[in-house]
Amino acid sequence: MSEKVILTCPHCGNTTPMDLLNKFEKVTTEEFYEGYEAQFNDIFEVFECPVCQGFHLFHTHWNTEEAYYEGFNIYEEGKLLYPYTERLNLYALPKNVRGAYESALRVQNIDEASCVITLRRTLEMVCKDKGATTGQLHQKLNHLQQTGVLPPLMGDISKVIKDIGNMAAHGDQVTFNKYMVESLFRFTNKILEYVYILPKEMKRIKFELEQMTAEETSEEAT
Ligand SMILES: [Zn+2]
Repeated sequence: MSEKVILTCPHCGNTTPMDLLNKFEKVTTEEFYEGYEAQFNDIFEVFECPVCQGFHLFHTHWNTEEAYYEGFNIYEEGKLLYPYTERLNLYALPKNVRGAYESALRVQNIDEASCVITLRRTLEMVCKDKGATTGQLHQKLNHLQQTGVLPPLMGDISKVIKDIGNMAAHGDQVTFNKYMVESLFRFTNKILEYVYILPKEMKRIKFELEQMTAEETSEEAT
């Protein structure tokens, strides 16, 4: 019988015993002092979900230098390497935008149509936050494009999300598969990054540069 580990499937969201298909363990040793060797173990495991047959790759680590409490679950500190998911810094988003985006994340693997509708709502929140409050969503998005909040390509991407969101909301006879949802997530991430995260990062880098120049000038003056 194959080995099983209880994990949450990143595809279908079920928490269930996963079949271990393959395992590779890399052991590194390091002599800390004479006669004592520390051991570091990196474990790579491929699991198959018995519910959706999707597979995922997990990395876990343990070593002889750390204390692990009884009942420690190595997978809780492990890292999912595949399927790759882009993670946004949610703390950089305004509260309403973040709330809508998190709702979309929660239903991503459960209900594709709801997820698409919630991504559309995330865009609504971006419009509201940026002062575009009148008219239909496409008019608000046009407004954001005209005022330069969204560059032309980002504006087009937003309209794609809006259209697909509308189809889902009106119960059109379309099925949304997970690849479609993944693309829409990627698009939404790009928009949120452009509107909220990049400006913050630019500001921080500019500030750091100013500090460096200020230090240089003060050094030159002395
Ligand atoms: Zn699954």
